[in-house]
Amino acid sequence: MVAVPVIRTRPRRGDERARSVATGGPGDPLVDRFGRVHRDLRISLTDRCSLRCTYCMPEQGNEWLARTSILTVDEIERVARVAAASGITTFRLTGGEPLLRPDIVEVVRRLSAIRTPGGAAIDLAMTTNGIRLAELLEPLRAAGLGRLNISIDTLDPVRFRELTRRDRLDEVLAGIAAAAASDLRPLKLNAVAMRGVNDDALIDLVDFALAHDAQLRFIEQMPLDAGHTWDRASMVTRSEILDALSTRWRLTPVPGRGGAPAEKWALDGGPATVGVIASVTAPFCGDCDRLRLTADGQLRNCLFSPGEYDLVPALRGADRTATDTSVDAVLRACIAGKLPGHAIDDPSFLQPTRGMNAIGG
Ligand code: SAM
Ligand code: SF4
Repeated sequence: MVAVPVIRTRPRRGDERARSVATGGPGDPLVDRFGRVHRDLRISLTDRCSLRCTYCMPEQGNEWLARTSILTVDEIERVARVAAASGITTFRLTGGEPLLRPDIVEVVRRLSAIRTPGGAAIDLAMTTNGIRLAELLEPLRAAGLGRLNISIDTLDPVRFRELTRRDRLDEVLAGIAAAAASDLRPLKLNAVAMRGVNDDALIDLVDFALAHDAQLRFIEQMPLDAGHTWDRASMVTRSEILDALSTRWRLTPVPGRGGAPAEKWALDGGPATVGVIASVTAPFCGDCDRLRLTADGQLRNCLFSPGEYDLVPALRGADRTATDTSVDAVLRACIAGKLPGHAIDDPSFLQPTRGMNAIGG
């Protein structure tokens, strides 16, 4: 018997979940009602973090996930294997801070061994704040990690301390240096553009990335902070970012974005590029191919989705409902419930109850 997926949801105007019907079965592509084929699974390994970025987590009062609710490496591997059988080709490890997980090398080793139905290797990436990366990079590489995105919003130690509420810029820089010295490519650096924090230093961040053979990707700040301080009127927009960069480089759009969140521009004709992820002012939901697994086993079909699809019964159920087929059924229910877009601009928009650290960026 296949377990009936449990949906935890907060209703939202225009939410058509009630009418959604899961299609297909194990091995069929994960296609939603709008024809979007899903190929990318973001796997959050923990909600804990070594930093406290203001746009992501509160300084204090975090309600951490119970340790017993965090998926084990066996459970993560199982979800990933079932997803790969139905067309997922990229796994991105995230969090919270994935490098805080004591078994991170084993997680990478297990996931990198998964193959697509055609026998191809999986694209295995990680988003990290870089702390502990200098010591872990070589074991991660040996375990099969394919590429890295490292977050760095400012190069100024004082601003870094204010933004992250931790005095650990040197450790982040050491992690970036280790990644630059390795053969993991493409290497990407992520920076959330923020007024009064780094909007006067966007060019410096690109120069820093270029000096490390990395691509800088600016991210528009999204309403995902636990403190609910996000303000559309004062956020730094894609067009402001491009205006700032245009004072230094000639920017030429790079075609062929596909489902990627970042729009790319060549700098002075290339080959160097810069990217902008403009989720707020230029949403790319129409091409979204991503699914998210939280550290406590909830599937989300969008960063902003009001509902979650509970995989725990399919993973930990004591009876015969806990099978790969039941995992697949939850994946399909999640895909079937996906809305056309995130509707940040809709008056009925509700910020997710989980902060970004507990969803997985
Ligand atoms: N701790 C890791 C890190 O910081 O790279 C991985 C998790 S973090 C949630 C993933 C990405 O989400 C980071 O690049 C971070 O800057 C971004 N992020 C977090 N909160 C955000 C927000 N409110 N708006 C835009 N990006 C955000
Ligand atoms: Fe931690 Fe990443 Fe969130 Fe910063 S953005 S608090 S590093 S999870």
